[in-house]
Amino acid sequence: MMTGQQYKESLNDGRATYFAGRRVIDFDEVPAFSTPRGHIADSYDLFYRPEPDAVNPMFQAPESKDELRDRIPQLMALDEVTYLTYQCQMTLTTAASRLRSVAPEMTARIDRYVADARRRDIRMVECITDAKGHRGRRPQDQDDQDAYVRVVERRDDGIVVRGAKLHITGTPLAHELLVMPTKAMKPGEEDYAVAFAVPMSAPGLMSVSTSFHPTGHPADYPVSGRLSLPDSFVIFDDVFVPYERVFLDGQTSSAAVFAHSLGLWERLGGTSLMVQQADEIAGLAQLIAEANGVDGYGHVREKIAELTMHATLLRAGLEAALANAERSEDGFYFPSELYTNAARYLAAAGFSAAVQKLQDIAGGSVATVPSMLDLDNPDVGPFVEKYMSTSTEVSGRYRVQLFHAIKDLTADKYGGWWHVVNLHSGGGLYAQRLITRKHYDMTRAKALARRVAGLPDEG
Ligand SMILES: Cc1cc2nc3c(=O)[nH]c(=O)nc-3n(C[C@H](O)[C@H](O)[C@H](O)COP(=O)(O)OP(=O)(O)OC[C@H]3O[C@@H](n4cnc5c(N)ncnc54)[C@H](O)[C@@H]3O)c2cc1C
Repeated sequence: MMTGQQYKESLNDGRATYFAGRRVIDFDEVPAFSTPRGHIADSYDLFYRPEPDAVNPMFQAPESKDELRDRIPQLMALDEVTYLTYQCQMTLTTAASRLRSVAPEMTARIDRYVADARRRDIRMVECITDAKGHRGRRPQDQDDQDAYVRVVERRDDGIVVRGAKLHITGTPLAHELLVMPTKAMKPGEEDYAVAFAVPMSAPGLMSVSTSFHPTGHPADYPVSGRLSLPDSFVIFDDVFVPYERVFLDGQTSSAAVFAHSLGLWERLGGTSLMVQQADEIAGLAQLIAEANGVDGYGHVREKIAELTMHATLLRAGLEAALANAERSEDGFYFPSELYTNAARYLAAAGFSAAVQKLQDIAGGSVATVPSMLDLDNPDVGPFVEKYMSTSTEVSGRYRVQLFHAIKDLTADKYGGWWHVVNLHSGGGLYAQRLITRKHYDMTRAKALARRVAGLPDEG
């Protein structure tokens, strides 16, 4: 296993990482990289054991429903790249289990790779979203044949891949990328049916990152300062991948298995985060209503009641996903596809409405609250304190801090990022609706409807 310090040093591997227009050689010079790198290093130190055969227990596939349930809060208490690594490894484990009977050689490769990744204690991120070109056209019908990641050469010892994956969270802070097709592929699209793992230092691999990492007083950004992580544009400019790291190469009928396996684990993680976020929004609404002296008004109480309903139903969806977890043929447990996708969809679809209620209750200071630096300024600080206070029980500082939490979470750079990520991560609302519909028992629903209508049973 690696210590936090060894992890930090391991990122100095010659990777081609770009940020704000220049190549980053020294991560210490870029707070958007060095801050989350510190959080990831802390997680390494938490689990480090010096024995040569030690592995991080967080990455073991859950062998019971309880283990699946317990793992989520444990992982959420750590950094997101560790969570993404779990998702990557569970995606591969799930895909292997689903493909074992049709592709025994490939699944044996996956098993070996996952065991080796755990032994090396590496961190991984998930690359599924292609550039995609014209959305209405299939990969081979694009004007640019590289719009979807594809194999451009097959050699005796491996493949050469070209293309790009977009929006990839955590890229510069991971050791390896897990690359998969973004959707199902059809016969004739063999070159696009490709899945593999590749180190960040592979020749021809480049990443271009953006970040909502804030600058300014840490108390102005209590949420984003803790959670920021770069999202990256990853370019594969003819990257060689040896066969032992290739998990899918031309088997179009198996391409969707990877996308669906990733979608399941990604949406479980996303739903868990959004359940927590829904509780945070309800709590902030109650706190700011009390601080503003409006918690007794009927319309405010109603809005907060609706926030608590939303949070409670999302939690119920997550609970149902875990309670209805299924045992794979390989013996590990995975969450219910139906409840995971339905809960993730409702969380994303209801997010804007929940934020609207919180901001409505809180007032305009969500946008205009003075900085903590102004509060600490001897000239204007006492006035900020005086006029932001609402009574002898509610100090100006307390209210300013609450407003910064609401602003950071919902109205600033990170808040804007969340509005988009809630809609699009996990494949977007459309994909979640599609999978929910696929797993919903429509036969039963139709039989019930026939009975209500007094119609005879079908067939
Ligand atoms: C902050 C952030 C982090 C992310 N992190 C990751 C990550 O770590 N790894 C990763 O792989 N991806 C990641 N994603 C990508 C995410 O999964 C995609 O944004 C999402 O799948 C939508 O793809 P897109 O952005 O290309 O939008 P588009 O595909 O252009 O979608 C826009 C709209 O068009 C619709 N649409 C597109 N094509 C079709 C079609 N053929 N038929 C019908 N409707 C269609 C969509 O349903 C949607 O409503 C992240 C996204 C964000 C915003």
